[in-house]
Amino acid sequence: MESAIVNCFSPGDKVLVVNGGKFGERWFKLAQVFGLAPIELRVDWGRGIRAEEVEAALAEHPDVRGVLVQASETSTTACHPVEAIAKVTRQRDVLLVVDGITAVGVYDVPMDRWGIDVLVTGSQKALMLPPGLAFIALSERAWDRAKTVRQPRFYFDLAREQANQTKNTTAWTPAISLVFGLDEALSMMREEGFAQVYARHDRCARATRAGAEALGLRLLAPDDPSPAATGIFVPDGVDGKVLHAYLRDRMGVAFAGGQDHLKGKILRLAHIGYMGAFDTINGIAAVEMALSHFGHPLEFGRGVGAAQRILMSALPD
Ligand SMILES: *Cc1c(COP(=O)(O)O)cnc(C)c1O
Repeated sequence: MESAIVNCFSPGDKVLVVNGGKFGERWFKLAQVFGLAPIELRVDWGRGIRAEEVEAALAEHPDVRGVLVQASETSTTACHPVEAIAKVTRQRDVLLVVDGITAVGVYDVPMDRWGIDVLVTGSQKALMLPPGLAFIALSERAWDRAKTVRQPRFYFDLAREQANQTKNTTAWTPAISLVFGLDEALSMMREEGFAQVYARHDRCARATRAGAEALGLRLLAPDDPSPAATGIFVPDGVDGKVLHAYLRDRMGVAFAGGQDHLKGKILRLAHIGYMGAFDTINGIAAVEMALSHFGHPLEFGRGVGAAQRILMSALPD
């Protein structure tokens, strides 16, 4: 994310930042640290921005040089409509910079076809590796922009890295063990088939949403849900922090919680990486049991059954 900023924008450049959660906030802070002039386009947590809102903001600020956005805002489990936003930015001299950290490897993000200018991801999410590798791709016009950008950069100088990679080497020592791990992770994904991997994430996400709704639980991002993870509100009368700790420490089922004002209010169930049908079933069954333990009235199996009906579709003949 930092290399995207220092290679594509000079101090003083105006950028539009879509801020709908912790990672949108991170783009904003990064832009500030490197002396850009970020304009914040806030969106409620759990919602995706509308491309028309981006278009209106660009019309209001015609000197904006870039739009920074998440494809999947992991903190709120909502997606922003990157394809539609790209239709707006590609007609202008505005670079579209996309944090794809829970999108690349989760669902198809065809950067060239959509017109994304910079796409980043990391090793630690859908690529199933430990943290330590980051990936970045630039469009032709982003590489052109990089040539004119005044911003100090050394390790994160992408032109220097690219020059080395064309000679089949790297500018600096990479995390070699992780590159070997990446080779294996990508082989696994290729073996399953990328389309099948994406379909599996989508199916687990739909099953989780159906399970939550069957239990009468409210979704954090009902209208723009990410297939990477599903945020579910803890029902009134149950302490979310206590529920989360009980699930993890007493039942052995770990969920992500909420951040900032959502702390203690939501559970996030992941679907990325090697998550499959029975991780989803376990997750929903555990939620049913934990909620029941804390006195929330529910009928066992209601959520699990709703999820099973969706997961059935992928059973082999
Ligand atoms: C995980 C993640 C990041 C990276 O955050 P780290 O603190 O480095 O793990 C950035 N953006 C999104 C959308 C993420 O999900």
